[in-house]
Amino acid sequence: MTAQVIDGRACARAMKAELIDEVAQVHGHATGLATIMVGDDYGSVAYERRLQRLAREVGIAHFPHRLEGSAGIDEVSETVERLNTDDRVSGILVLRPLPPGVDESAVFRAIDPGKDVEAVHPENAGLLALGTPRFVPSTAASVFHLLDSWLDSVGEDRADFYHRSSIVVVGRSNNVGKPAISLGYEREATVQSVDVWADRTTGIGRHTRWADVLIVAAGKAGLVKAEHVSDNAIVIDVGINPMTGVDGRVHMVGDVDVESVAPRVRALTPVPGGVGPVTDVWLLRNTVLAARLRGGAGPQTESSVELLEVS
Ligand code: NAD
Repeated sequence: MTAQVIDGRACARAMKAELIDEVAQVHGHATGLATIMVGDDYGSVAYERRLQRLAREVGIAHFPHRLEGSAGIDEVSETVERLNTDDRVSGILVLRPLPPGVDESAVFRAIDPGKDVEAVHPENAGLLALGTPRFVPSTAASVFHLLDSWLDSVGEDRADFYHRSSIVVVGRSNNVGKPAISLGYEREATVQSVDVWADRTTGIGRHTRWADVLIVAAGKAGLVKAEHVSDNAIVIDVGINPMTGVDGRVHMVGDVDVESVAPRVRALTPVPGGVGPVTDVWLLRNTVLAARLRGGAGPQTESSVELLEVS
């Protein structure tokens, strides 16, 4: 048996169509995404370009801000503060990585929490950890959106599945791993977090082999191999690692060694074409939600309540 492929592109297409309708409903409230990139990191440049294209397609304004790699904390914070008071901007995304001299957490604290569409400000990170999110960070949200949609497609009852399942998250970053852990708790699954020290000591397999759902977000190509998964696991590969092929061209691979893992597991997200495309749409979805919340949308419409939920 080989794994079913969970198709992120198809899922993103369906979400995009819904988002176009959402954008039409928020007219009157300025909906705009501002991105701040410091330097020219390969992944950030590609991400910014994708967001620009997607924003145009769904009818959301995009304001890209590119700062020199030599920019310091003052310049980055001033840019954030200008955008906080710019009425055309409903969402602010600071692209990572920031240069080593710029304190990431200070920049995140400078973002107006009402425009913090990736939930990196402590207020929004706290709300998420308490199970009452204002914005659900796009990557973790996409992981669970793909899982929920896949469970629906195979006729599994979501609550029943999560209640009896063990979810193991590999990688514990503030922007991906920890939010994914919070969303696992929200679904009342049994959740375990594995980080680099497990790999350096006992090995990750001791933990990951228990997973019914294995979420991998370590940023290490080929980290998860056949011996690390159980038969019938559902594997969500968040990793994006640039690799140079024999032809000299750069292509992206995930953290999962697909060749050895696919024959063992029940379902698997590909890289590219898995979590990534859904993440892009989710971020813009949060930007629309931010516009709606800022616009004092009064009693929430049914669709805005739905946006506040994880899936
Ligand atoms: P990060 O570097 O901030 O965090 C990585 C985490 O993995 C850390 O907690 C680190 O300790 C842990 N880790 C590293 N090596 C490990 C190992 N050998 N075993 C176990 N844990 C290990 O990265 P991030 O921002 O969380 O992103 C993780 C990966 O996901 C990257 O490849 C990134 O490009 C990708 N990513 C993808 C999307 C998407 O939409 N698909 C979005 C964001 C990030």
